[in-house]
Amino acid sequence: MAKKNNNGNKKNQVNQQRVSNLPHYNNNKKNKAPSNVITGGVFHYSGMMTVSELAKELGLNASDIIKYLFMERKLMTNLNTTLDDELIGEVCLNWNFDFKKEKIVDVENFEELEIVDDIKDLVERPPIVVIMGHVDHGKTTLIDTIRDSHIAEGEVGLITQQIGAYQKEVNGKKITFLDTPGHEAFTAMRARGASITDIAIIVVAADDGVMPQTKEAIDHARAAGVKIIVCINKIDKPTADVERVKAELAQENIISEEWGGDIIFKEISAKKKIGIDDLLETILLVSEIEEYKANPKRYALGTVIEASLDRNEGPKATVLVQNGTLNVGDSVVVGNAFCKVRKMVNEYKKSLKSAGPSTPVVITGLDEVPIAGDRFMAYSDEKIAREVAEKRKLKARSQSMKNSSALSLEDLYSQIHEGEISKINIILRADLQGSVEAVKSALEKISIEGVKINIIRATAGAITESDVLLASASQAIIYGFNVRPDAKVRAKAQEEKVEIRLHSIIYALIEEIEAAMKGKLKPIEKEVVLGQAEVRNLIKISKVGVIAGSYVTEGIIKRDCLVRLIRDGVVIYTGKLGSLRRFKDDVSKVNQGFECGLTIADYNDLKEGDIVEAYELQEVKADGQ
Ligand code: GDP
Repeated sequence: MAKKNNNGNKKNQVNQQRVSNLPHYNNNKKNKAPSNVITGGVFHYSGMMTVSELAKELGLNASDIIKYLFMERKLMTNLNTTLDDELIGEVCLNWNFDFKKEKIVDVENFEELEIVDDIKDLVERPPIVVIMGHVDHGKTTLIDTIRDSHIAEGEVGLITQQIGAYQKEVNGKKITFLDTPGHEAFTAMRARGASITDIAIIVVAADDGVMPQTKEAIDHARAAGVKIIVCINKIDKPTADVERVKAELAQENIISEEWGGDIIFKEISAKKKIGIDDLLETILLVSEIEEYKANPKRYALGTVIEASLDRNEGPKATVLVQNGTLNVGDSVVVGNAFCKVRKMVNEYKKSLKSAGPSTPVVITGLDEVPIAGDRFMAYSDEKIAREVAEKRKLKARSQSMKNSSALSLEDLYSQIHEGEISKINIILRADLQGSVEAVKSALEKISIEGVKINIIRATAGAITESDVLLASASQAIIYGFNVRPDAKVRAKAQEEKVEIRLHSIIYALIEEIEAAMKGKLKPIEKEVVLGQAEVRNLIKISKVGVIAGSYVTEGIIKRDCLVRLIRDGVVIYTGKLGSLRRFKDDVSKVNQGFECGLTIADYNDLKEGDIVEAYELQEVKADGQ
């Protein structure tokens, strides 16, 4: 099964040529990716093998291997002896094979398959271009201007439909544009692991210069490793100052060729249609240099650009074919949907029978609506495609059930470990703006196992119900620093299964989250809130201090318990209960609905309306038991 390929040492390889009918990975019942393949002199295997299996894969005589192992390693082996990695490697080297252990990929996880194409099958494909930049800098105008320019023959007079992407023919060559302006769509796709663009055009208005979203767009393009072309737009405006824009971009390390850098800059007016042809030709030039290629002969693979439910046609999706050719009638798994492609149309509503690499098409025939960023793959066998889609649906369902319970600190580690999360969303509340900043910067410095802390809201003040709702929607953990949730917020958090962690020492907070990320959450002293009492009146008694005539609004207040004094949701003081009385008697506890007189040890600065929260510390294991 010797095959030459362009990147023979990559993992999870699949060489799934149309003609060969998925030779490597669906011809066994286990639905596994190829395990033992020799490509370019490299032997790819997936785990322990017997002598006879290894001999067969390498095309050797088993007796030669047995002899070799006996002579060189003094090992007695037979046909059924299992060889470990070290011995497999040694045998390979002795017979001049490079070797590489591969991860086995389930056929249903087709996103993880690394596609290997034979160089001779690779042909040029159109570049895929996205347009990004700050709001009002002219992205939409540029998208429209390009769309309307260079209407190819045969397309004139055809009504275009917005399908999320379109192709332009320039000098007989095609360019594919994604027509959702802004980087939100781009980022959303990237967040879902889809990387579809080759070239990012960063539009900067000549009269406005580099703005926050310009910087973001640059960061996104860089992070995605795509080629950047800068378009300085609105040069028709009298207030245009191209040199200033260049200088500002240089500050972002985006330096034009003219200034000694390596980024192509184009000066255009999207509105007045100046420089557009030049821009399109430049895109083609970049594309020629970068040699974007694909193999039109394989079964199609690609990404969903957008999807919707059509009242007449059912679920439909704009998909971008990234490799291979998609045909009407193909059996495709799109995200978790199965699709027997019924119809395929382009942006001119023209029916197509097949769509090659870099072609965006709208497909119908799906059994459910996928989501943008979903990957798709065509299969040679309808039955297998249906099975894969079913399995993926099931998996997604169990996943979503898992996700519906919000993230808790205790299960953070297992989720990180299983690769389910790569960032931890945090909502931070602190008593003062200064502490917000301090905690925020300490949190942002944490980076463990490649997992990032993502602070989605950080504000001073009490924890609110809206914090809980945001946390629930974004699977965030709420951290309170010197603040307390009131009873209503606590109830909401319980209902939404949102975890609220409360701290008053920064390093303890940081230590706790680091420990959780490393899976080393120590037994923690979990607070158990006993109840709350509202201060209704104050009586000053010399020698005793201030007695707070209070009403227990929730739970109970116990003698000698710990307390915190809360004013407007912010913790004013933390300490111990000094005394607890009903009428003139010391009591051990006071239940909800009763009045009491209480003092806080060593603290007298109480005010009417304050909340006294009673709590105890109990040691619990890290798993929350
Ligand atoms: P977007 O938010 O980046 O998509 O920006 P738009 O394409 O909506 O453009 C914002 C405004 O700038 C609109 O009023 C456009 O007409 C205007 N505009 C866009 N390009 C140019 C240009 O090249 N020259 C001038 N003068 N105005 C432009």
